[in-house]
Amino acid sequence: MVFNDALAARREAHETGLAYLTDAELSARLTLAKATPERAWLGEVSAVVLQQALADLNSAYRNFFASVTGKRKGRKVAPPRFRSRKDRRQAIRFTANSRFRVLDNGWLRLPKIGDVEVRWSRDLPSDPSSVTVIMDAAGRYFASFVVEAGEDPLPVLAADTGIDLGLNHFAVMSDGRKVVSPKFLRRAERKLRKAQQSLNRKVKGSSNRTKARVEVARQHAKVADSRRDWQHKLSTEIIRDNQAVYVEDLCVSGLGRTRLAKSVHDAGWSAFTAMLEYKAKLYGREFRKIGRWEPTSQVCSACGVKDGPKPLSVREWTCKACGTVHDRDVNAAKNILALGRRESLNACGGDVRPASMAAGPGEAGSLRGAA
Ligand SMILES: [Zn+2]
Repeated sequence: MVFNDALAARREAHETGLAYLTDAELSARLTLAKATPERAWLGEVSAVVLQQALADLNSAYRNFFASVTGKRKGRKVAPPRFRSRKDRRQAIRFTANSRFRVLDNGWLRLPKIGDVEVRWSRDLPSDPSSVTVIMDAAGRYFASFVVEAGEDPLPVLAADTGIDLGLNHFAVMSDGRKVVSPKFLRRAERKLRKAQQSLNRKVKGSSNRTKARVEVARQHAKVADSRRDWQHKLSTEIIRDNQAVYVEDLCVSGLGRTRLAKSVHDAGWSAFTAMLEYKAKLYGREFRKIGRWEPTSQVCSACGVKDGPKPLSVREWTCKACGTVHDRDVNAAKNILALGRRESLNACGGDVRPASMAAGPGEAGSLRGAA
C-alpha cells in the first residue's frame, strides 16, 4: 500500500513534468496519509516496515535508472510496477531498527504482530541483522534471517575439482563422476507437470480452477523444497571434499532466453552455484567461475588442441591430434579444472570481507501461527 502510494506519487510527478520526488517528500506524505481515514490503519503498522516499503521502492528505481544509463550490466530492468495484494508470494522485512527479537524460548517477536512460534531448520550462528517473513504461493510462512557468518575453515586439502553443469546430467566432475538429479525429485517434477496440465484444462474463474491452482502451488513448493535439500547435500559434500571448486559461468540470464530456458530454471544451476560460493567462503575453500567464452567442450583436455564446435548430440568424440577418446561432459569438466587452476595461480590478493549470507526459505525455518 505504502509502496503503491509512493510509486503513484512519483509517476504522477513524472507525468506532470515535476521533479523526481525525494525520499523526504515521500516520507512527509506518508505522515500526512496516516491522518486520513482511508490510511489511518497505517498507524497500526510498525513504522520501520512503512519506511522499508519506501526503501524498497527506492532500490527498484535505482536499479531501473542504472539500467537505463547503462551503469547496471545484464538484463534490462523495468521501471517499478504496482504491487498487488494478489501477488502469490508476499514478503515483509524487519531490520534491526524495528526491534524484532529472537526470544529465549525460540519464538520470534515481531513489532505490531506479536510473538510467533518458529520451526527452526538450523541454529542461527550469530544475531541476525534482519528478518524477512515470506508467505509463499502455497500459503506457508517462512522467516529468512540475514546473519554475519563467521568463517569456519576446514582443514586444507590437496583435492580440487572442475564441474560441468549440463542437461543430461545435473553435474559432471572432472574426475569422471556424473551426478543425476535423484528419482524422488524427478517424480515430484512429473507430478507438478501433471498438476499444471490439469490446471490449464480448467475453466477460468471456476472453483475447480482455484482448487487446481492451489494444488499446483503445493506441488511446486514440494519440488522446490526437495531440490533445495538435495542441492544443499551435494554442495556441502563437494565443498567438504575439495580445496578448490571451479564451475563454468553459465550466464543464466543469457541462456534463459533460448529454448533451453525451462531446463535451465528447472535444473536450478544458479541456486546451486550460489550455495557452492557461500559455503566455499564459509569453510575456507576456493570457488571460481570460469568465463563463458572459453570453449570448454571444443578443446581436447589431453593435448589442448581445439577440435572445433560439436552439436549437443555428440556425446563422445576422438581427438584428431592425440587420439584420446573423450566423454563430452567429462572433457569439459577437465578443461574447467585446468582453467580454474590457471586463473587461481594468476590471481593475487584475497577477499577479506566477512561472508554475509541470507538463509533462504526452507533453510531458515517455517513459522506457525504467524499473523
Ligand atoms: Zn588431443
